[in-house]
Amino acid sequence: MTQPTDPRPTACPFAPAVSGGVWPVITDHPHRLLVTYLDRAGTYHYAGNDPRERARRFAAYRKGKNGPRYHCGIDLYGRDGDPVRAIADGVIVRNFGAFRRGVRPDGTPWLVRRILVDHGAIVVGYGEVMPIDGVPDTHTARGRAILAPEARTVVRAGEVFAAIRKQRVSSMLHLEVYRAGTTQGAQWLTRRPPVQLLDPSLLLLELARDALPLAARGGPDSTRDG
Ligand SMILES: [Zn+2]
Repeated sequence: MTQPTDPRPTACPFAPAVSGGVWPVITDHPHRLLVTYLDRAGTYHYAGNDPRERARRFAAYRKGKNGPRYHCGIDLYGRDGDPVRAIADGVIVRNFGAFRRGVRPDGTPWLVRRILVDHGAIVVGYGEVMPIDGVPDTHTARGRAILAPEARTVVRAGEVFAAIRKQRVSSMLHLEVYRAGTTQGAQWLTRRPPVQLLDPSLLLLELARDALPLAARGGPDSTRDG
């Protein structure tokens, strides 16, 4: 049964729910479990009173410097350096630089990363992050390398494998969901969305709902990293 407050469908199918899934950001940010979305009744769900916050939702229109595009993910609240954890068991298939932030003290490029984790039924892109030490780097000039199966890092549900890394102005986890088997991130540039892309709205609302009682009780959720 759909409700008026459920997310309004776009041209992208909804990603399936993840059983036993875990909210991906460990943070004390006041909007830490907030999912920005447009509902079936036409109401925007977003933090505060600033309508610009609506741009965090899936499929939000962007007037980029390379032309218009639509937002492939949802921007979750968090602060620079907050731990990012796997929403379910999976393997890291790619860890690549999406945005250049500058130069690190050792002279190498400082790239804000997007990490693709294969969770079986879905593949999740965790964007605007840096991996923790030990996650193999797959960045190339063309950003196309993927890890050989034997080199892929296994992550357990709730395991921290990255941290939020500020890209330009604000810090967030940009989360995208793709169909099973996807090894490449996508861009959504025309009305027709990329075929492998899925709408994360319902999935994230469910994860938030599961995390809320724990957070309200001051339970282990808000700081758990295991
Ligand atoms: Zn985003």
